[in-house]
Amino acid sequence: MTDHTPGLLWERAAQHADRTAIVDGGRTHDYAELLDASSRVAHTLLDGRSDLDGERVAFMVTPSFQHVAVQWGIWRAGGTAVPLCLSHPPAELAYVLDDADPTVVVGEAAHAGLLEPLVEDRGLRWLRVDDALQGASGPLPTVPLDRPALMIYTSGTTGRPKGVVSTHGNLEAQIGSLVEAWAFSSTDRTVLDLPLHHLHGILNVVGCSLWVGATVEMHARFDAAATWERLASGDLTLYMAVPTIYRRLIDHWTAAGPAERDRLTTGVRGLRLMVSGSAALPVPTMRRWEEISGHTLLERYGMSELGMALSNPLHGDRVAGSVGFPMPGVEVRLVDEDGVEVEGHLPGEIQVRGDTVFLEYWRRPEATAASFTDDGWFRTGDIATRRDGRYRILGRSSVDILKTGGEKVSALDVENVLLGHPGVAECAVVGLADPDWGQRIVAAVVPVEPDLDTDALREWCRGHLAPFKIPKSIHLVDALPRNAMGKVVKATVADQLES
Ligand code: ATP
Ligand code: MG
Repeated sequence: MTDHTPGLLWERAAQHADRTAIVDGGRTHDYAELLDASSRVAHTLLDGRSDLDGERVAFMVTPSFQHVAVQWGIWRAGGTAVPLCLSHPPAELAYVLDDADPTVVVGEAAHAGLLEPLVEDRGLRWLRVDDALQGASGPLPTVPLDRPALMIYTSGTTGRPKGVVSTHGNLEAQIGSLVEAWAFSSTDRTVLDLPLHHLHGILNVVGCSLWVGATVEMHARFDAAATWERLASGDLTLYMAVPTIYRRLIDHWTAAGPAERDRLTTGVRGLRLMVSGSAALPVPTMRRWEEISGHTLLERYGMSELGMALSNPLHGDRVAGSVGFPMPGVEVRLVDEDGVEVEGHLPGEIQVRGDTVFLEYWRRPEATAASFTDDGWFRTGDIATRRDGRYRILGRSSVDILKTGGEKVSALDVENVLLGHPGVAECAVVGLADPDWGQRIVAAVVPVEPDLDTDALREWCRGHLAPFKIPKSIHLVDALPRNAMGKVVKATVADQLES
């Protein structure tokens, strides 16, 4: 039986003080070390005060033991952690710093050249990680569960990123639900290949693992060869990633020789669970991964505002193209444009209620108010259908639900058909404004070979899609614009196809 007694992450760490919490660069760090390091960071941040009282502390630290020590240090000092994206250009960082309005910025020496001028311009306190870790020890404040803990910026897939503020209670509920659904335990061992400024890495990989006393191996960035080595080692029990990463792992395997393929395939079979999320998992990617690794990927659905909401089952059928059932303790419903729950298999907006749902969009009271119904349901903006209790995501109401000639079309459905063609490596389907059709469906396709015949591809679509769903035109491109989470930014695709 998994223990989900409410509490704070670091308060539980004493229960498994001697276990390995984090491995980075070949060094192991146990939970006692994490407690000590985070306490030092907390004292440096407090600088003689008794509690940061929710003040925001921004930090830019490569995924590592030090990253988590700083995150816990901010929490233990009573502050709100604002993790910064390592790959943001200065203008994006400036946006986040101005919006988040932190008092302190913690960073690595490697990022000082980038961060120091931004910090100086804004009159903030600049703290190097190495110095932060030198703090004293001693008593720390008692942090209530309703205190803001984390402010992360949404991926910016559909607009300017918004600061999503979650309390310790929200994070605890999100973790508790996942730990139960996927049966995390102290014997788990996983690899982090995701950035630590989004929930997928912060919560699913690191938060859940540290909650139960498991071990996380930190990779500073994803590298297909390095990850395959770890997957094939037989040491890991669990792996979580985004669809783009699985695609790269497939490409790496495909490029290897027969003996190497055998070795990788044999090694990866020992894991107990492999999960995909953050964006729709293309059905062909799921099938190919299954052929290569023997694992049926567990696809789940979540967002910055609420952690995970829907998941395929740990035990039981994992259905391709479906994100499964509501997570434990999470209420989910589908409503139509009038706010009425949909009947039968009709599409509706996913709405979510429960302790996992965030506190607010930072300094955007109108956006916060607009995103909740009068009776407290959060409007996700994602459209889905439900059959036998299983949900299927059709996409975002704003960009993926296309309206053409009076018909509604899910861009994800069309993308799945295109991806089923052997000549298509990646694709994105968008709607362009059109005087006759309302929206004209067009596709950007990254071909496997540059001479892909687009007429033949449209013919392929004819065999799989109703006529109104077939892209009016297909454009071959070298690459798709993606954000830090590997998600396709459809507004940019549309701009490129329009010009
Ligand atoms: P922004 O809100 O700034 O546009 P974003 O919504 O991409 O960015 P996140 O909170 O990181 O920011 O991502 C959550 C979104 O990702 C969900 O609302 C949903 O659209 C999408 N998503 C997550 N998991 C899945 C999945 N399994 N299938 C389809 N879409 C998914
Ligand atoms: Mg969003």
